[in-house]
Amino acid sequence: MTTTNAPEPTTAGQTAVQTFDSFGLDARILRALSEQGYTTPTPIQAQAIPVVLMGKDMMGAAQTGTGKTAGFALPIIQRLLPLANASASPARHPVRALMLTPTRELADQVYDNVARYAKHTDLRSTVVFGGVDMNPQTDALRRGVEILVATPGRLLDHVQQKAVNLSQVQMLVLDEADRMLDMGFLPDLQRIINLLPAQRQTLLFSATFSAEIKRLASSYLKHPVTIEVARSNSTNENVRQMVYQVEDGHKQAAVVHLLKQRAEQGLSRQCIVFVNSKIGCSRLARHLEREGINAAAIHGDKTQTERMQTLDGFKTGTIDALVATDVAARGLDIPDMPCVVNFDVPYSAEDYVHRIGRTGRAGASGDALSIYVPGNDERLLSDIEKLIKRSIPRGKLEGFDPTGERARQGDTERRRERSDVRRARGNGEGEERPRRHDHSANRQVFRASDDPFFSRPYEPSAASVAQAKAADEVAAALTRGRQAPKRPVAALLGGVPRKS
Ligand code: AMP
Repeated sequence: MTTTNAPEPTTAGQTAVQTFDSFGLDARILRALSEQGYTTPTPIQAQAIPVVLMGKDMMGAAQTGTGKTAGFALPIIQRLLPLANASASPARHPVRALMLTPTRELADQVYDNVARYAKHTDLRSTVVFGGVDMNPQTDALRRGVEILVATPGRLLDHVQQKAVNLSQVQMLVLDEADRMLDMGFLPDLQRIINLLPAQRQTLLFSATFSAEIKRLASSYLKHPVTIEVARSNSTNENVRQMVYQVEDGHKQAAVVHLLKQRAEQGLSRQCIVFVNSKIGCSRLARHLEREGINAAAIHGDKTQTERMQTLDGFKTGTIDALVATDVAARGLDIPDMPCVVNFDVPYSAEDYVHRIGRTGRAGASGDALSIYVPGNDERLLSDIEKLIKRSIPRGKLEGFDPTGERARQGDTERRRERSDVRRARGNGEGEERPRRHDHSANRQVFRASDDPFFSRPYEPSAASVAQAKAADEVAAALTRGRQAPKRPVAALLGGVPRKS
């Protein structure tokens, strides 16, 4: 639903710019670009840069991998150049451009790009995100920066500590705004925007222009120009999509089989394997390792250092299979992948588009392979096919006939997976974010009260970082002298729903 006062955006024309020079960018920026090896603007850059240079608000439908960061960062740097100065005084370096991103990884990448593009100028930039020590961030903020990249929560922490003042922000970028909404950042966004001058330029990037995004745009943007580089929810023609039916309990073995088969066929071993839950993510990575596949898990409970190490290992090729949840993988600047595997069919059809968008970039070809469990996942698959407006071919995985011998062998895995689901739901360690498009109604409805797991006290598991953290919190609460919990500890961790 679009609100009645929603601005009617104008769509940018297809500007045929072939070089960065033709935008009129400063020689210092052009030098940085040529050092980066950029010769030709990408389509989003060709369209966005002139619009941003003119000072207009903009809504861009573009995903990570399209070059959108330079699309907003270059013109922002250009517009700030007249204010650049080499003074040591923090007062001469107020925050003038604020770039908000939903995840730490994306914040770090955006900052990395900004720093490279601005390296020959006197403009200062820094990044602040959660999960790491605040002090070095505070120091950088206190010294003064013109361009600040941040995740919303940590930015508000710094605001509260008066380490940063946002009253001189002239340009605001909401990067991956759809994901920020999905992750529940709307109240934080609202608080941050209240601290900014009303007179400013606002740029919003989102993979899709959902009704919620349009609503957000209508409150924060003024007469935005809309730019779309690809049809929303379209999938790349170069990507060979395939789904394989696998009996519940055989999914791990099926993924091992798929990956080994690719290696035998001489195809690249590198792939991203997507999993819906954090605990399932760790478990699958361990299983792949046991099966001789170099794998590592990346999800929201990993520390920032662990994530960076994993990503480095993947980029340098010591890790072949990056097992990831959607939130962790979103925004990662990973070069074109030859293959994406969906271990779990995503609950949201849009996530499927994001996931497989990791492969087949820039005209390369890629494989997007999904496994699904008959009876569980058909509805999700049909939602995906509706969204992408095509049917995905069904392939056969030899030896994984749902009625064959493996069905019996798979009982252990199936039991483990089910217990994962119970644990995950009980301890809030399942999906990494609330799902707007949760189709759980189509899945078997799970009621905690049906399961004896929830009436037992919580038993901490060494394997689960989240559980340990939550248990720590409970312990801390008790040490602070609060009354001992009467309900089982699982309840404190969100495991037992309130009786209605
Ligand atoms: P982004 O979508 O902004 O995350 O960019 C994806 C990747 O493309 C990053 O590694 C950028 O460094 C790279 N990139 C961005 N613009 C260009 C360009 N015009 N030419 C070559 N590479 C680019």
